Amino acid sequence: MKIKVTVWGENVHEQKHADVRGIYPEGMHGCIAAGFQESPDFQVRTATLQEPGHGLSPETLENTDVLTWWGHAAHGEVSDSVVDLVQKRVWEGMGLIVLHSGHYSKIFKRLMGTSCSLTWREAGEKERLWVCNPGHPIAQGLGRYFEIPNTEMYGEPFGIPAPDEQIFISWFEGGEVFRSGCTWKRGNGKIFYFRPGHETYPIYHHPAVKLVLKNAARWAAPEGSRWIDECPNVPIGNAPEALRQKGAWLHKPGGQGLR
Ligand code: ZN
Repeated sequence: MKIKVTVWGENVHEQKHADVRGIYPEGMHGCIAAGFQESPDFQVRTATLQEPGHGLSPETLENTDVLTWWGHAAHGEVSDSVVDLVQKRVWEGMGLIVLHSGHYSKIFKRLMGTSCSLTWREAGEKERLWVCNPGHPIAQGLGRYFEIPNTEMYGEPFGIPAPDEQIFISWFEGGEVFRSGCTWKRGNGKIFYFRPGHETYPIYHHPAVKLVLKNAARWAAPEGSRWIDECPNVPIGNAPEALRQKGAWLHKPGGQGLR
């Protein structure tokens, strides 16, 4: 069974900026998808902001094990109804990998419940990503650290809830540090935030970045059976032990509305 990955791209900088288009002629989403396609265990599709429903129809999400999300310039243009659909699928068990400036996407902020803000600087500085958790599936094949020669800086404080697991911490040439690889569970779904990916540098061509994305998608793929929380009523007659109604009650038998 292949892992079904949907690579979502905002696809705005690629249209507007020749520098970005030069690095990513097929779009950043196209480059990220090509990285997954290097391995036979992934079945990959792409979706972009400009497509109807941002390319994330209920059917597409239904057939997605892991969704990756890159956005920056147009977070506000993402429809709330699509965010609702993605959130529901994460709760059911779909994995979500949020990339770089996706820290400020509607879906990430909603799932985190915090500001998700950070400090930043564009100076083309070096980033060293330290592996904090060498035994974690996302960090396999990397060694103690890897480096990106030129990137935008993101620094602490990062306005996220405490991660369940810290996979990477970045150090930047200018001196700042940042929690650049973090995991959480929300409902039945696994979430990984991964910092690299500033659009004016060839970061999604970097072998270590491509390796982390593949490791992360394998880690985030759904496990076990789907959990759909519909808050079901359990009638008295279906309780595991015999029960007799005591006291007053507000709901109609079977939980169908209020009396
Ligand atoms: Zn950036």
